[in-house]
Amino acid sequence: MVKPLTESITLYNGVEIPKLGLGVFLMKDEEELVEAVKAAVEVGYRHFDTAKIYGNEEYLARGLKESGISREEMFLTSKVWNYDLGYEQTKIAFQETLDRLDTDYLDLYLIHWAAPKYAESWKALIELYEEGRVRAIGVSNFQIHHLEDLKNQELMQPMINQIETHPEFPQNELHEYMKENGIVHEAWGPLGQGKTDLFQQPVILGLADKYGKTPAQIILRWHLERGEVIIPKSVRASRIQENSEVFDFSLTSNEMELMATLNTGTRYGSDPDDQERLKQTSIRPEN
Ligand code: NAD
Repeated sequence: MVKPLTESITLYNGVEIPKLGLGVFLMKDEEELVEAVKAAVEVGYRHFDTAKIYGNEEYLARGLKESGISREEMFLTSKVWNYDLGYEQTKIAFQETLDRLDTDYLDLYLIHWAAPKYAESWKALIELYEEGRVRAIGVSNFQIHHLEDLKNQELMQPMINQIETHPEFPQNELHEYMKENGIVHEAWGPLGQGKTDLFQQPVILGLADKYGKTPAQIILRWHLERGEVIIPKSVRASRIQENSEVFDFSLTSNEMELMATLNTGTRYGSDPDDQERLKQTSIRPEN
């Protein structure tokens, strides 16, 4: 096993989050996920990002167990889903997540979307944090106005905000706001979710050629230069390794300016302010 990839960013409460993690969204097949997690641990990943709604927390627990690393070495993130928002229900959902992950604490727990009752959920997360059941708390898909809302209610500030980010959608305004407020920027969809033609862009191909890196590695390095945490997803061992080999080169400020020309304002995921979607996904399915 190689040296763990522990280059990290310190959250405002002093907790260190490894800059690189493995995202496991859409990994629905148990064996595939277990193998991906084992491959990731083998090349040094220690940080894993899941969510209740991904339906794979138990598989992740199995993959981590089979990889043989200890709980203290891991950095585990999960998220509370929209229909579990509200003070009491969030606490129940948190315990269920712990049970599925077979652990008695999380490293990071996030509110997945700013759906109705997010402020009540945030109060539950603050209590879980103060009780020592989670080492850090944050949000996901929060816009400036959601963050301002928590601030205006004089509630503890999130330590992290996980948001869609890639060169076509750099979220510059939110990025600057978070920087000013000491909230770490975590990028989801860091490679454009495989829905983009970024990999064929001459700017990226040119930099890939210059540094002897792949387009994916150039994009991931762009995130790191901006001070973001990245959680690229792949089930292929070769890509999992490729995505980890981004700590041995850097982009110059001129090259970052070139990359900035790729901003087209294209969002591939949902709009965090799509109220109809937030309402629909807040309805608990009957089963
Ligand atoms: P991503 O940008 O990581 O893209 C993943 C896709 O990129 C893969 O399916 C594959 O097709 C391709 N890919 C991966 N490595 C590659 C490589 N080296 N070369 C070429 N192609 C490569 O998108 P994502 O999975 O949506 O986002 C990453 C993680 O972020 C997720 O797994 C999940 O943990 C998290 N996420 C969070 C939210 C949220 O609302 N908080 C939403 C989506 C994803």
